[in-house]
Amino acid sequence: MSAQTLINLVTGISAGAIRIVDLTQPLHEHTPLLSIPPEFGQSWPFKIEEISKYDDRGPGWYWNNFSCGEHTGTHFDVPIHWVSGKDHEKNATDTVPNEAFIGAACVIDAVADCQANPDFLVSRDYLMQWESKNGTIPAGAWVLFRTDWSKKYDSDEFLNNREDGGHTPGWEPDAIRFLADERNVKGAGVETVGTDAGQSFIQDPQFPCHNLMHGANKYGLAALCNLDQLPATGAVVIAAPLKIENGSGSPCRAFALVPA
Ligand code: MN
Repeated sequence: MSAQTLINLVTGISAGAIRIVDLTQPLHEHTPLLSIPPEFGQSWPFKIEEISKYDDRGPGWYWNNFSCGEHTGTHFDVPIHWVSGKDHEKNATDTVPNEAFIGAACVIDAVADCQANPDFLVSRDYLMQWESKNGTIPAGAWVLFRTDWSKKYDSDEFLNNREDGGHTPGWEPDAIRFLADERNVKGAGVETVGTDAGQSFIQDPQFPCHNLMHGANKYGLAALCNLDQLPATGAVVIAAPLKIENGSGSPCRAFALVPA
């Protein structure tokens, strides 16, 4: 590769031939949190507290303290997050290979199916149909599940909790096996609070995207937005977790480079 390739990239961005689409939701005190049964440990909600703001606590500067769980808002899941991925090498936020941070995007548009059924699950066949229109999902791709669920972020419909748990879209186990084993993707990105369906605790295996993706040493991106601004193929996703030592994930800034 010539140095010109990277120069073309930055001149393309400054000339507007390549657009940057932010895929990240804002972090604030109402950032939706996955609800898990009370007998399990719970994730801290996002909290922010002002240290000073050009005042007697600090006359020349503004800064804050914040706290939250690793899996808060738009965030990056690494393999150590799941018991199935705990023995992989380089499986934590500080050790994942740098190649994890950039990948081609394949955007699976399932908006109509998810509007019709909030419990919609992507099947292996669904992915094969996508491939028949858009080409084979390349190795190392980020497969992004477009549901438009991100547009519900500020409403109860985002978590869509009922008495029997959340009702949000996800994946059939065979779809994840196909992506991980037959397509060797980088991982799966979703617009919902976590990478699995709201009802994934009744799937077999439970939480198939977590179980099988991390079991295959692959990654996840949750609570993405603006997937409606991406083409089915041709965009590049850039996202990286904070370098927390032995961390299981972290809020991240995720964005895409899109040909204009
Ligand atoms: Mn997560």
